[in-house]
Amino acid sequence: MVNGQQDHICWGGGHHHHPHHHLVLRRVTAGYGAEPALHDISFEAACGSTLALIGPNGAGKSTLLNALAGLLPIWSGDILWNNTPLAAHMNEIAYLPQRNEVDWQFPITVRQLVEMGRYPSVGMWGAMRPHDKEIVDKAICTLGLQDLQNRQIGALSGGQQQRCFLARALAQEAHILLLDEPFTGLDVPGSEALAELLRTLAGEGRLVIASHHDLATAPQIFDQALLLRRELIAAGPVADVLTPQNLNKTSVPA
Ligand code: ADP
Ligand code: MG
Repeated sequence: MVNGQQDHICWGGGHHHHPHHHLVLRRVTAGYGAEPALHDISFEAACGSTLALIGPNGAGKSTLLNALAGLLPIWSGDILWNNTPLAAHMNEIAYLPQRNEVDWQFPITVRQLVEMGRYPSVGMWGAMRPHDKEIVDKAICTLGLQDLQNRQIGALSGGQQQRCFLARALAQEAHILLLDEPFTGLDVPGSEALAELLRTLAGEGRLVIASHHDLATAPQIFDQALLLRRELIAAGPVADVLTPQNLNKTSVPA
């Protein structure tokens, strides 16, 4: 694609992946103390798909999301976006931490939160230009937040707060959405709505990567899965990854 916005966001249906927009992890090792929490992880993922990170508690799912988000330096290996280090493309990434790590009482309205998505472009104290306002409006509209835009985020339900963060990610025009346990705490209608939304966002050409602990719903929500237990146990289409044999390997003591 050659012109303006189309060049920036890889639009296109889920069946029209753009092979030049892709994430590659090559032998990534990262951790906190002496022992790596993630060891020798390699995989590739293309724009236009949803990828689940699956594994038991402590498997390294959040660690992997933090490494992708640039919040945790990796010890070795490469994280590449379109063949250059992802660290040089931080604007491309939107990261939603686990619910309990967000300060939901922070006094900010829905609209202000979504506008934060424009900060990388306009600067913290820069004024919203008409173009930025348009993008914010569109993001709010896409997530169905029009009627809530002047409410405090702290006053919203979990599902609504989730949608606010996704709207901020859209306002940022991020290609890569990193979501840590986004389905946790949602009721069934909320989960179904989020699942549909994630598939839509991927269908428009984004790469959605989310940690997920519900094996039963994973095949409906995600195209691909990574099964982790400090090391990569399996990667590929969800049905191929979540086999009894592979799942057994996640429960064997390390
Ligand atoms: P998951 O998200 O799959 O439950 P994590 O990535 O949170 O797993 O954790 C992977 C490992 O790293 C665990 O052994 C955990 O105890 C450890 N760990 C996670 N965060 C930290 C931290 N901030 N400091 C030290 N160790 C951590
Ligand atoms: Mg976690």
